[in-house]
Amino acid sequence: MGIVTFDAEDRWNAFVTVCRNVEHQDDGPLAGVRIAVKDNISTAGTQTTCGSAILKGYVPPYDAHVVTLLREAGAAIVGKTNMDEFGMGTTTESSAYGPTTNPVDMSRVPGGSSGGSAAAIAGGLVDMALGTDTGGSIRCPAAFCGIVGLKPTYGRTSRYGLIAYANSLEGVGPMGRTVRDVSRLFSAIAGHDPRDATSLDRPYDHTPTPEVKGLRIGVPAEFFGKGVDPAVAAQVRAAIERFTELGAEVVECTMPSMQYALAAYYVTCTCEASSNLARFDGVRYGPGADTIRSWHDAYQDHRKEHFGAEVRRRIMLGAFALSAGYYGKYYGKAQAARKNVREDFARLFADVDIVAGPTMPTTAFRLGEKSDPLSMYLADILTVPANLAGVPAISVPCGTVDNLPVGLQLIGPHFGEERIIDAAAAFE
Ligand code: GLN
Repeated sequence: MGIVTFDAEDRWNAFVTVCRNVEHQDDGPLAGVRIAVKDNISTAGTQTTCGSAILKGYVPPYDAHVVTLLREAGAAIVGKTNMDEFGMGTTTESSAYGPTTNPVDMSRVPGGSSGGSAAAIAGGLVDMALGTDTGGSIRCPAAFCGIVGLKPTYGRTSRYGLIAYANSLEGVGPMGRTVRDVSRLFSAIAGHDPRDATSLDRPYDHTPTPEVKGLRIGVPAEFFGKGVDPAVAAQVRAAIERFTELGAEVVECTMPSMQYALAAYYVTCTCEASSNLARFDGVRYGPGADTIRSWHDAYQDHRKEHFGAEVRRRIMLGAFALSAGYYGKYYGKAQAARKNVREDFARLFADVDIVAGPTMPTTAFRLGEKSDPLSMYLADILTVPANLAGVPAISVPCGTVDNLPVGLQLIGPHFGEERIIDAAAAFE
């Protein structure tokens, strides 16, 4: 056993919980590597809050599968990182534990919802981190903080022990300073887990080889549409141009389903959230509710008091969309649109190897800038398609606009992680 003493100063509020002296196995591929874990991933014996007051003080009795794998690989898990409450957000401002700031510019958000993980890496506090991505929560903070983040193929990493937000969309993924780090961390966490019924038997064992020669890279016009900052678009176009210089072929294409992707995402994720979050009743986890009353009053008051505004909004939206008589109008339509997104990707990947575009339409927002929820939701337009289709996507830094990082997003077909990782490595 080795011991890592973690005494870094967290100036960005990247952590909800810090583990000061961490025992780790001294052999294994990640022996002694300082790794931060997003606070919606269960860690036995260490508080896991999901960024919510409703789980304050909740200490899971078991490790998530990915955490077990990290421990077996020798990693030193030095703490749990801040996040938008239950993963609902794009800024890490909806955390009950205060916002995280962006180490690149402290007047800006780090992105979200895995903003604490990205800030911990960008601020040099840890070597690598785990995030989760339901609609962009790994890729957005990676882009805003100038690091690398991979959202794996749905099912390639186990969700056992991940506290669910929208389980048909989400997964755990690696974040790091370089593509090589991300690849190394991904090797440790990918693979089958019988305790997650959607887990797939596709381990990852790959060394990134910077190679794009002969690749066909599709660039959908919709990724450069309305709302994308022209300076960000220009930076990403220039990055894609570099691929051409390295021997790849760039193909202009279209993805008409993008028109409905954001709406389909927000209906799906709120419906799933309203159902998943019903379990937080004040009886089983976190601060106890006053239950010497009717169960209905106790349940309602507890949730009103301990859930933040964004979480309450999404539970209500989801419950409404699922209510009798509205199913066909909202949930049914969202699933039809989701199918279109999947089909669009299938059509594109019959012709190209990788789809490329910006990760986010803009650089990092100022703290407090996205006070209107709708304008925040709109910022997810370029990341949600990969979640709706379950395909892998990576964000890799590709320069700056006004000294703020810009992320290039590379999307692959199902199980195309090796391919997008190689392409990202060629870019570094
Ligand atoms: N910003 C998106 C949302 O609020 C994505 C969040 C995520 O991936 N967890 O739902």
